[in-house]
Amino acid sequence: MKTEILGIQFDDLTRQEAAQRGAELLAEDRFHYVVTPNPEFLLAAERDPEFRAVLNGADLVLPDGIGVVYSAKILGTPLKERVPGIEFATDMLACLNERKGRLYLLGAKPGVAQEAGRRILEQYPGIVLCGTHDGYFKDEEAVLLEVAAAQPDLLFVCLGAPKQEKWMARWGRHTGARLAIGLGGCLDVFAGNVERAPERWQKLGLEWAYRLKKEPRRIGRMAKLPLVLVKAAGERAKGGHKGGKD
Ligand code: UDP
Repeated sequence: MKTEILGIQFDDLTRQEAAQRGAELLAEDRFHYVVTPNPEFLLAAERDPEFRAVLNGADLVLPDGIGVVYSAKILGTPLKERVPGIEFATDMLACLNERKGRLYLLGAKPGVAQEAGRRILEQYPGIVLCGTHDGYFKDEEAVLLEVAAAQPDLLFVCLGAPKQEKWMARWGRHTGARLAIGLGGCLDVFAGNVERAPERWQKLGLEWAYRLKKEPRRIGRMAKLPLVLVKAAGERAKGGHKGGKD
């Protein structure tokens, strides 16, 4: 079941259902990609039809931001819950650990993916870390060849949006991976460079506020976010929202 929010078709799943679906994708012997849009993605996709098509072409579209969940509510088609990319990624690591599968980490500043990998292996010793590469490269094809040579099952692509989604849609099926996930700043979190909000803030839907407190320079980016809610309200008032569809 898909729920449309400002032109993007979201999967309406709980975290557990998303993990179950992700495990199925990881078991299938072909390429899949997962996107985790937040409100910034929705605004960018309005102006960028290629980005919108790439998001809607994903095998799973998970609502990462509380702003997406609020927008869905305003539109009268509430989603079951927020499924943060980092939580889905953690569930996929646990699944890969059981399968003794291969992980490749692509993205972030030099050194971050290696440190993230080191920490992930401490927690999931069954995983084979088959490669890492930083996210500041010019030659997309050369990086693709490196990833493909490493033969990953699971690939985290952390280049920021829309670069990571476009990279997955363009090159993903040539990597030989079964599952790629676009995860923004998650490698910084796995590496221990950026802290997630304490659970209490997360439960209150205030993870964005905690992040702003820690990184005040994000105010410019975040100031645009209420616009998503205003747009959702406008669409609802116009009666133009078609809501969920199978
Ligand atoms: N990044 C990258 N290559 C680029 C631009 C960004 O690897 O050309 C990385 C950046 O270092 C960070 C992540 O992409 O680790 C995205 O961070 P951002 O804050 O944009 O994502 P969010 O945390 O909002 O998902």
